[in-house]
Amino acid sequence: MIVLIHKTCNGPAVETDTLTAEACALPVEAFPFTCFTCLEEITDESELRFSEEIRM
Ligand SMILES: [Zn+2]
Repeated sequence: MIVLIHKTCNGPAVETDTLTAEACALPVEAFPFTCFTCLEEITDESELRFSEEIRM
């Protein structure tokens, strides 16, 4: 499972329940959107990093 991490707050930028592996190719038109953790506006992909979360 791929999780989008917001670099500024180091929390998940989107609700992880709605994310699937295919979401790692984030469409550019998704910006800007509001960070799920800190509610700041994310305007660019450079504000995010991808993290692979292993679920048991
Ligand atoms: Zn954030």
